[in-house]
Amino acid sequence: MRLTRRAWAEPFKIKMVEPLKMTTAQDRERFISEAGFNTFLLRSDQVYIDLLTDSGTNAMSDVQWAGMMLGDEAYAGSANFYHLEEQVQKYYGYKYLIPTHQGRGAEHILSRVLIRDGDVVPGNMYFTTTRAHQELAGGRFVDVIVDEAHDPACEVPFKGNVDLTKLEALIHQVGPSKIPYVSVAATVNMAGGQPVSLENLRAVRALTAAHGIRVILDATRAMENAHFIKKREAGCADRTIASILFEMCSLTDGCTMSGKKDLCVNIGGFLALNDFAVFEEARNQVVLFEGLHTYGGLAGRDMEAMARGIEEAVQDAHMEARIGQVQYTADLLLSVGIPIVRPTGGHAIFIDARRFLSHLEQTEFPAQALAAELYRESGIRTMERGIVSAGRNVETGEHNTPKLELVRLTFPRRVYTQAHCDVTAESVEDVFQRRDSIRGLRMTYEPKYLRFFQARFEPKPAR
Ligand SMILES: *Cc1c(COP(=O)(O)O)cnc(C)c1O
Repeated sequence: MRLTRRAWAEPFKIKMVEPLKMTTAQDRERFISEAGFNTFLLRSDQVYIDLLTDSGTNAMSDVQWAGMMLGDEAYAGSANFYHLEEQVQKYYGYKYLIPTHQGRGAEHILSRVLIRDGDVVPGNMYFTTTRAHQELAGGRFVDVIVDEAHDPACEVPFKGNVDLTKLEALIHQVGPSKIPYVSVAATVNMAGGQPVSLENLRAVRALTAAHGIRVILDATRAMENAHFIKKREAGCADRTIASILFEMCSLTDGCTMSGKKDLCVNIGGFLALNDFAVFEEARNQVVLFEGLHTYGGLAGRDMEAMARGIEEAVQDAHMEARIGQVQYTADLLLSVGIPIVRPTGGHAIFIDARRFLSHLEQTEFPAQALAAELYRESGIRTMERGIVSAGRNVETGEHNTPKLELVRLTFPRRVYTQAHCDVTAESVEDVFQRRDSIRGLRMTYEPKYLRFFQARFEPKPAR
């Protein structure tokens, strides 16, 4: 046998460490029960390896920390704002920047500015906060992702693509005046971190331009998407992630951004736009909801960390290691027969809970139950992406029943080691060995908005 994995070795070494907390199986049994079988309600000191999310959980570099000391905390016109603006213009290519406290702040403002009551917003699968803000603004989200995205086993390289036939049919059905913009996410989180191709973005651009419809990119993980384009799309192998990212953005009119993902910071986001009139209105609104237009809910130091994060995260070597770690863990899981979404996404591994717990109905919340059980087994925290996350239909009040019923193992950037990946895979395998004994759940408390964050459950009695 030859050892072959060095391709993804991290382009950094570790200068500061944070001790992990260990718990006993008995402790965890109590903790998960007290948390209503919702991993969002666990306290972080009850968690060993935290794969809940890659949002704001990244490790910043020494260069980013040094930048924090250069925070210019002036109320107006902070130097860090101008640095961030310069970096966004350089790497994303949009003209105008509005910082926001995080991604949903940008989504809120954009939705208020562009969406009118009764509008329709097509998108390549919904994202929780994105859709919530579209709906709050009076819009209706319509999914126009390719069918393959809903099939966890289907192996196609660009499962995040927009289905142009669906989009065109929708434009004809409701009329272009009812569509303020097409919302394109790269990568598609809810489909398992699946990328969009450049070819698809070009085609979306051509179709929407013919009808005068804007395209807004959810750029939260666009750099990871650019990595997949480099690896998978014809003619892109020799390009840099930076050049691919720039081209992706050039095919859109603006973006919402959660800096807490790609950009390796703990807080921050932005809205970036090319159209001055839209920017002007957004700049008026940001003052109401976030803060002055040169800080948008962030401290100067946060903007500096994000400005520096852009330059670090767009480096090809960073992305090789980031995505290499996720792929490494996915390969371990596949080698022991765990059903996961294929191909492996950029930021996370998604376990197919329907196949893992095939004895449960979707209304017994299999992904929620599996996430709780994985915590109980090992102290590893993951999260549900299935019927609980999908919420209820705004018109009928019924559960939305997504085809995908997934548990997400999300990897914070630059935080865990290869040995942690091994422990994670071993723990999932242990639970898989006794999967038939896992019971479904009953929801005992359901919040009105984004219910997955705070819902509570209890185990169903044994059948
Ligand atoms: C996290 C996320 C958001 C929202 O960003 P926050 O910073 O959490 O408010 C929007 N879109 C996608 C794809 C995300 O992953």
